[in-house]
Amino acid sequence: MFRVLTFAVLLASALAAKKYNGYKVLRVTPKNDQELGKLFSLKDTVKDYVDFWKSPTTVDRPVDMLISPLHQDLVVGQINRRNLEFEVTVQDLQKDIDGERVEAVPGFSYTDYNTLDTINNWMDDLALSYPNLVEVVDVGSSYEGRTIRALKISGGTGGKPVVWYEGGIHAREWISPATIIYMTKLLVEGYVANDLDARDILDNLDVYMLPVYNVDGYEFTWTDDRMWRKTRKPLPLSSCYGVDPNRNWDYEWVASSIKCSETYPGPNAFSEIEVSSVTDHIQKLNNERGVLAFIDFHAYGEMWMTPCGYTETLPPDYAEQIDVATRSVSALQSVYDGETVYHTNLGPIATVIYEAHGSSVDWTYGELGIVHSYAVELRNTRSFIISSAYIEKSGRETYEALKVTSLHVIP
Ligand SMILES: [Zn+2]
Repeated sequence: MFRVLTFAVLLASALAAKKYNGYKVLRVTPKNDQELGKLFSLKDTVKDYVDFWKSPTTVDRPVDMLISPLHQDLVVGQINRRNLEFEVTVQDLQKDIDGERVEAVPGFSYTDYNTLDTINNWMDDLALSYPNLVEVVDVGSSYEGRTIRALKISGGTGGKPVVWYEGGIHAREWISPATIIYMTKLLVEGYVANDLDARDILDNLDVYMLPVYNVDGYEFTWTDDRMWRKTRKPLPLSSCYGVDPNRNWDYEWVASSIKCSETYPGPNAFSEIEVSSVTDHIQKLNNERGVLAFIDFHAYGEMWMTPCGYTETLPPDYAEQIDVATRSVSALQSVYDGETVYHTNLGPIATVIYEAHGSSVDWTYGELGIVHSYAVELRNTRSFIISSAYIEKSGRETYEALKVTSLHVIP
């Protein structure tokens, strides 16, 4: 009976969710400045009905456009008019979504994507299983009244300097929470098994693992729209919802009037309770004990990025940042022998992807002075939809990078 009911509930929610049948992703990679210029003009022309998964930035960096069946002829016409070549990187997004979870079973699994409720239960269970090592900490709250929770993992006595690793600030980037969860497993089990690195890290640092930052958005990706990115607050005088929580941090924040944009930064910095409450928590920890490293995990693209986002000017600590980032990426890539390629996407956010104002690492570095602040785009290189078969690999390889960064900052 339970199984039948569960199936009925799953079916009902699946039926309610937005369908992406026939949606394609087209990729154009600009080969020179002239083609790049054409892509900027293309974006300007079609931006109202194309979701730019990757916007035009620099020569050789692919531009990915999600396009509904209704608009495909029009957009292809605009691409052809500009004599640009394109490839289809996603043939039918709904097919990918339907095949995303290899073993879709109810309940928690380290190798599957998990709902918010399931993740919350897992956090409680982990704290119960390892009472001297793991603690659930409420670190913020959401517009819809959910609690944002992190795991504090700490060996021996507490009150040590902090490293803060967070995921899921953009709701649709599911590999990010999944990777944080898998790395938590490796760290905790490593400590218990007397792994020297895990011991070194947890005996000298309090590690905060925050799997789902944008809790309302993440829930919405399960119930209504797999491609949702922003928060879920209604916007006054607009039919659109939500703010990009990674453009809402109070450092070099810049206003915008385009509320329906996927990167709408909000009416003012820290307008989103998710961002203001979690940053309050980070700031408090920094004042009390010092936060020595901060990594914000995103998807997709395989990129390991340093400050700054708001300017291409290199910050004073760049030499140290790029050194640690380079060593972290080497460790990551060696796990599966070059299956993932991060080292070509290594450097400041503003150079590697685009100029972005009000993003997390600019605040943690610029406002709090956390030198080792990084933004990471995890696997893969073509879509937000990545088969759950890759969760373990993403977790294992990224854990090696996390260890390099954590060990480096131990005082
Ligand atoms: Zn993101």
